[in-house]
Amino acid sequence: MAFEIEERTLQHLKKLISINTSNPPGNESEAVAYISDVLKQVGIQPVVIEPQKGRGNCIVRLKGKGEKGGLLLNSHLDVVPAGNEKAWRNPPFSAADEGGFIWGRGAVDMKHMAAMMLAIVEEISLKGVAPRGDIVFVWTADEERGGECGARYLVQKHRDLLEAEYGIGEVGGFGLSLGGKTFIIVQTAEKGLCWFRLRTAGLSGHGSMPDPESSVAKISRAIAALSDAKLPVHSTRTFSMFLESVITKAVPGPVGKFGKMAISAKLLKTIMRRFPNSKVVKGLWPMMANTVAVTMLEAGDSPNVIPQEATAVVDGRYLPGQTREGFLSEVTAVIGKDVDIEIIQEGEPFEVSSETELFRIIQETVERFEPRMNVVPFLNPGFTDGKWFSKLGIIWYGFTPLIGVSPEGWSTFETIHAVNERVPVELVKKGSRVLLKLIESWMF
Ligand SMILES: [Zn+2]
Repeated sequence: MAFEIEERTLQHLKKLISINTSNPPGNESEAVAYISDVLKQVGIQPVVIEPQKGRGNCIVRLKGKGEKGGLLLNSHLDVVPAGNEKAWRNPPFSAADEGGFIWGRGAVDMKHMAAMMLAIVEEISLKGVAPRGDIVFVWTADEERGGECGARYLVQKHRDLLEAEYGIGEVGGFGLSLGGKTFIIVQTAEKGLCWFRLRTAGLSGHGSMPDPESSVAKISRAIAALSDAKLPVHSTRTFSMFLESVITKAVPGPVGKFGKMAISAKLLKTIMRRFPNSKVVKGLWPMMANTVAVTMLEAGDSPNVIPQEATAVVDGRYLPGQTREGFLSEVTAVIGKDVDIEIIQEGEPFEVSSETELFRIIQETVERFEPRMNVVPFLNPGFTDGKWFSKLGIIWYGFTPLIGVSPEGWSTFETIHAVNERVPVELVKKGSRVLLKLIESWMF
């Protein structure tokens, strides 16, 4: 049976992928123009906000009957650059429909959601029935570079347009396979970010006369210490619930029950230290501790001159419940006080409860389509537009549904930002129905 919502979603997805919104420069306005055209055909005039030329954001509010708080749906329209286009099996903006996939940059991050949202506005407006509460659709620019021309700007300058009780955006709604089970993750927490520059100073001099206290020697020691460091473990409600669900469901019976009891931060830390290079450990560690990754280095301009100053840039991420100051004191404990720290970019972490009516409806909707899959709360170590929207007090979940059995050799996390980004047609189709059903159950 063919569903109209599926067909329309696929059509919008292909069109949106074919519009190159690589950021930089973004050029999201071209995608906004397409969205606006579609909306006008069903009699809707969207609000378009362009903080800079070419950086369009698009907002539609479907007025509800006021019986419920508003629900905001968000998708960013920009994509990361395609990299080496020759390495792609199908050109990154071709939106090729091949082998059961739609190919192209943005296929999963996150034009599938942008397309679903558009098809859903059409569907609801054709229905001609007012929802119980407002439904707000927000397509944003500039997520991949921090939202200065997108969500961050809208939250600062146009909060009146964004009024809602709940919000749905990245990251979640897709499967994570663990122990032979598929878990559908839903972001309920997001780490904070704190990017900082380390600076060391020493005496400059001739390269033939080495100095163990030179700026470069000092920064090298700091970098080495940070790269080897495992900062302290901190527990969060989201990660505890994630772990508990995964262990009880993936390991049924008494072993699972025992595993659940035996889980403690201390035990996990021991496991992590024992097997630092295991894939699972690498994946879980950022959800348990604040992390630091050295990403940029700079010192010197001549082979025979010891430079007076050396710098390194560190991408730091800290957990919900932690403060920036607490995080930086963990860093100082590793590198000592002799290294200067200058903050260059920051964003606070956030965490919301999974014991809400909306979360329960997300769970019910997923189980209705895939009874064997379990919804679990997820702590996102990365960064999304949700960081800005949550500042307005919106209860924010990550749920951009790609529900169903993933094809062999494909997983969401492995295709995001990678060459040959692609999305399985069947998952998009079912996803569009899941999202529509979710909104219908909640708002009609
Ligand atoms: Zn994204």
